[in-house]
Amino acid sequence: MLSLAKKRMSVRVRFAPSPTGPLHIGGLRTALYNYLYAKKNGGEFILRLEDTDQNRKVEGAEQYIIDSLRWSGLLPDEGPSMQGAFGPYRQSERRAIYEKYIIELIDRGQAYYAFDTTEQLNDIRAKHEEQKKSFKYGANNRIEFNNSLSQSHENTQKLLKSVPYVVRLKVTPGKVIKVKDGIRGYIEVQSEEVDDKILVKNDGMPTYHFANVVDDHLMKITHVIRGEEWLPSLALHQMIYEAFDWSPPEFMHLPLILKPQGKGKLSKRDGEKMGFPVFPLAWEESKGFRERGFLPEALINYLALLGWNPGTEEEIFKMDQLEKIFESSKIQKGGAKFDFEKARWINHKFLEFTEQKAVFERFPEFIKCLPAHWSEKKRSAVYELLRDRLFLLDDLRIESRLFLNDPEEYDSKVMNKIEKHNPEKIIGQFIQFAKNSVSVREWKNEIQKWNEKEGLPFGAIMQSLRLALVGNLSGPDLFDICEVLGNEITLRRLEKFINH
Ligand code: GLU
Repeated sequence: MLSLAKKRMSVRVRFAPSPTGPLHIGGLRTALYNYLYAKKNGGEFILRLEDTDQNRKVEGAEQYIIDSLRWSGLLPDEGPSMQGAFGPYRQSERRAIYEKYIIELIDRGQAYYAFDTTEQLNDIRAKHEEQKKSFKYGANNRIEFNNSLSQSHENTQKLLKSVPYVVRLKVTPGKVIKVKDGIRGYIEVQSEEVDDKILVKNDGMPTYHFANVVDDHLMKITHVIRGEEWLPSLALHQMIYEAFDWSPPEFMHLPLILKPQGKGKLSKRDGEKMGFPVFPLAWEESKGFRERGFLPEALINYLALLGWNPGTEEEIFKMDQLEKIFESSKIQKGGAKFDFEKARWINHKFLEFTEQKAVFERFPEFIKCLPAHWSEKKRSAVYELLRDRLFLLDDLRIESRLFLNDPEEYDSKVMNKIEKHNPEKIIGQFIQFAKNSVSVREWKNEIQKWNEKEGLPFGAIMQSLRLALVGNLSGPDLFDICEVLGNEITLRRLEKFINH
């Protein structure tokens, strides 16, 4: 008995995207918070595709959502093309279920058929607008329209067979709808403020609101965690639950993700303008976080902090830690500003502690900038030298150039600065070391000895060497560079500098 009761209480959350385009990182964050909430509470995370709006369906979007969740490590416990006792998990495959439940609602006197044509309704709306009045199809006027409440039973039956119709919710006036949001507290709405919303459209498909409530109920969802943009629908959803006499799940509406600067929601255009990705994976011409060189676990870490915080100063978390410490009470109310620099910094931290071997195995597309003809040892050595400098995996391509190509030109500012210290002479000395096969590890000592007589500033010596080898003042430790380049290439670069 006890175990049954416990089982019934078990947390079930769902991520319910509509395949109307690529998954935005805001959507991925919603999925993540659902996932973490499920894991934290030993519950189930369900993927449900809300694809009843045939006009808005976008080719490839469903697969994109599934791929993005997989790449991010947010694997559902139940979902389309998976086992699960509450399927199908694609709403377009649940039509018969919605048909059954809409009949139930009509039989309960909580919904009714309406035969008004779009033109008729548009006309009425336009007339209201002319008079600067707002129009609501509801308790005050529903009897004046063409529906099963205003028509006789026989007429209704005839119309049902001959003209297209919708089904509307019959909102009871004079009620206070009180709903609780786990993040924002109680919200009260007067039922008159809600119109008799369409629940089934004239193509026989349910609207988002109806399908969403029916499915959350049938799939035994205990907590609905979704974006703030759905908060205005909450009262309506509550009314649908009440119309069925079902007890609603708990709700949490997540704060918006805001533009890095200025006001408003983060958009795809912000990313294009400022050069950061807003999708987890590439979509059409837009590169995703993956293609820009993010480790999925770093993106997850960043998104976890975008609207939630652990209440400590700590900022780097792996998924298994997040699963333990995630608490919905620490989700913030206010919008969260997107900060690409912070996302990059977190990725940098993950690159710092992720073993090289793992990076090479998991991200070959980024490692291929280290030529295949290099020995394993050299490829590893180069990666290790550059690792501290990488924020995105794609930085490896740029940072490794110094090992691939001899400098084509030399930074003229540095050149002008060191000119008076006779860089040819300095480099001439290093050439001697290279020719005499003096080990690179000895170069520093040897050049210091040589400089006892010369008395040159040591900085100028090192800058000359760096300019000769790299062409500018960037890059990791110079002697490390020489060691990886090897004697032959080092010598070639030194001589090229002298000839220049
Ligand atoms: N299909 C809705 C969306 O794409 C789901 C909203 C909800 O989670 O209830 O945002």
